[in-house]
Amino acid sequence: MKILLSNDDGYQSPGLAALHEALRPLADVMVIAPEQNCSAASNSLTLWRPLSVLRSGNGFYYVNGTPTDSVHVALTGMLDAKPDLVVSGINNGENMGEDTLYSGTVAAATEGVMFGIPAIAFSLVDKDWAHLADAARVAAEIVAHFLAHPLAGNPLLNVNIPNRPYDELHEWRITRLGKRHPSQPVVAQTNPRGEPIYWIGPAGGARDASEGTDFHAVSQGHVAITPLQLDLTHQAMLPALREWLGAGHRA
Ligand code: MN
Repeated sequence: MKILLSNDDGYQSPGLAALHEALRPLADVMVIAPEQNCSAASNSLTLWRPLSVLRSGNGFYYVNGTPTDSVHVALTGMLDAKPDLVVSGINNGENMGEDTLYSGTVAAATEGVMFGIPAIAFSLVDKDWAHLADAARVAAEIVAHFLAHPLAGNPLLNVNIPNRPYDELHEWRITRLGKRHPSQPVVAQTNPRGEPIYWIGPAGGARDASEGTDFHAVSQGHVAITPLQLDLTHQAMLPALREWLGAGHRA
């Protein structure tokens, strides 16, 4: 078994090291990750300059680019054979609801799916790494379950793990994405030259955290596993849109 492991927090992140350690007994794991923290990089590719790939003392490859760059370069330029699975994480903080659209953690996994390789993104709820080893243990269990029972249909799984001791984690739940309120307002400041600067504000709180969502499962102490798809087509709007076109002057 071959696993390609990446993240968006950068190759020096404790979450990456912990996940690597936990996955090593399961497979041959190659690690390639961004040099810098690229959280919220989404699916961006670097097209206007070349990318350097260097190897750190612990064997991890690091790229002066994005999570998507990292996985892309490995899949199209470095690996002789396709890995069996692309894994991303463990992210420093949750990726639920609309977070998945901004997330570089999910994006690294998405890049695997783009090339027909199943992928799993792991995120630890909260940012203090308090129970990282416990989360890595759960992540390895999920990967082991996946390798033993492969899923058809080019799966992209988004996993959020509550930040609590292993023994206090409840069973895995299959979930759908919840929804957030829009982000909080920017934080406005003034730079030393008297010009306005803005920090993007924190993500909004949960708006749909109803039963069945990732938000709900995690709040109850469950590990939330949400299957994602890349097709953004709004299927339910297609009939209304056809009608809208029919009513128009170009019909
Ligand atoms: Mn991150």
